[in-house]
Amino acid sequence: MGNLQDQRGRVLRDLRISVTDRCNFRCSYCMPKQHFGSDHVFLPQSALLSFEEITLLAKQFVALGVQKIRLTGGEPLLRKNLEILIEQLAALRTHEGQPLDLTLTTNGSLLARKAQAFKDAGLQRLTVSLDGLDDAVFRRMNDVDFPVADVLAGLDAAHAVGFKNIKVNMVVRRGVNDHEIVPMARHFRGSGMILRFIEFMDVGQTNGWRMDEVLPSAQVLERLQQELPLVPLDATQPGETAARWGYADAEGRHDPNLGEIGFISSVTKAFCHDCNRARLSTEGQLYTCLFAHRGHDLRQLLRSSEPCSDAQLQQAITGIWTGREDRYSELRASMQPMHPKLGYARVEMSYIGG
Ligand code: SAM
Ligand code: SF4
Ligand code: SF4
Repeated sequence: MGNLQDQRGRVLRDLRISVTDRCNFRCSYCMPKQHFGSDHVFLPQSALLSFEEITLLAKQFVALGVQKIRLTGGEPLLRKNLEILIEQLAALRTHEGQPLDLTLTTNGSLLARKAQAFKDAGLQRLTVSLDGLDDAVFRRMNDVDFPVADVLAGLDAAHAVGFKNIKVNMVVRRGVNDHEIVPMARHFRGSGMILRFIEFMDVGQTNGWRMDEVLPSAQVLERLQQELPLVPLDATQPGETAARWGYADAEGRHDPNLGEIGFISSVTKAFCHDCNRARLSTEGQLYTCLFAHRGHDLRQLLRSSEPCSDAQLQQAITGIWTGREDRYSELRASMQPMHPKLGYARVEMSYIGG
């Protein structure tokens, strides 16, 4: 126990839990308005896993070797009283008796008012998505006219209550926000926060993804290096999604005071070979890949007339993970585009979480 391997020898370590399929933003790369308009039907409350159900499942994953849990969505802060769930998850212990690496990804819009409660509940780390500093660009990206100042206030509040090394994720779309790359890097250099550039991905079926809108990380790095000296850094742990680069001093050495940036090259440099992540949807479907077309229903095991024991739940999860073969990003280049009417529909990012 504790080292569950899939068909490609990848060990289950990381669980991402989506706590809501709703969001107050309509980022066009994730929940475009034309598909997530006022007539869109979100999951009813009764379909959502309760905090107790999430914690019970998380406990089984931890017993099977998971060491890191990330809460996500949709926008996780839209889930009422999220700090209660955080508190429950923070009480779990790994095999070695260690607390989990418990983290959360948010668009930051409601963070200012929640940061202290999350810190008190035991949340260890935070990732905030931010696609630009220019207010007009940011409002266009979130497509609900949300001001960038409020997200920056959320970041400040999180920093002030003691969150360290906050990660800031920027999805880069060529021709849309790529002119924000250098200003973002300058803004976060020396701030104690870690900016990460994410390649625009072809998740889901609705975001109108086109390869020519992907700005490869190599080109992002090139643009940065023209303005700011950077040096490559070693990976800190296996399965790490971001390639790390450090800001350099005048002698060309990494200056820890200036910090680092990261590149998540999901399109141009697949990292399936050591992908150790499982994803639990808002309604309790387990997905073994971000690009999966179907999940495995764990909620029915919890809600059946004879609820499963811990051992039975672990057996079910073991069966799913050990049968896993997913490596979508590695295969992407050789695949034909999928049409929903011809084949299966891929799951949406807002449903499964990033
Ligand atoms: N609402 C929260 C947020 O935006 O941080 C959490 C959920 S969101 C689905 C998680 C992450 O996925 C965000 O950092 C977002 O930028 C990223 N994301 C969504 N769609 C994407 C896409 N098509 N390509 C790359 N990243 C994407
Ligand atoms: Fe909402 Fe996050 Fe998706 Fe943007 S990326 S629409 S904030 S879930
Ligand atoms: Fe993991 Fe699937 Fe992404 Fe590959 S494509 S890194 S298997 S989630």
